[in-house]
Amino acid sequence: MAKKYRLEGKCPQCGCSSVSHLSKEEMDKHFKGLDNLELDCGECMRKFTEKAATACPEYAKDCKI
Ligand SMILES: [Zn+2]
Repeated sequence: MAKKYRLEGKCPQCGCSSVSHLSKEEMDKHFKGLDNLELDCGECMRKFTEKAATACPEYAKDCKI
């Protein structure tokens, strides 16, 4: 079983939080080496950034971002 990372962000505009579960491959594809992760709000579609260490501490730790 591939490990899934829990990625969580809070939209600064509407305040709703979005949670996604991504595999390491997907995380690497989108976010490898990035300090700030770009996320989309599911409610208002606004793009916002979240610190990797806040959004997904597990990934930040495993990949030593
Ligand atoms: Zn929003």
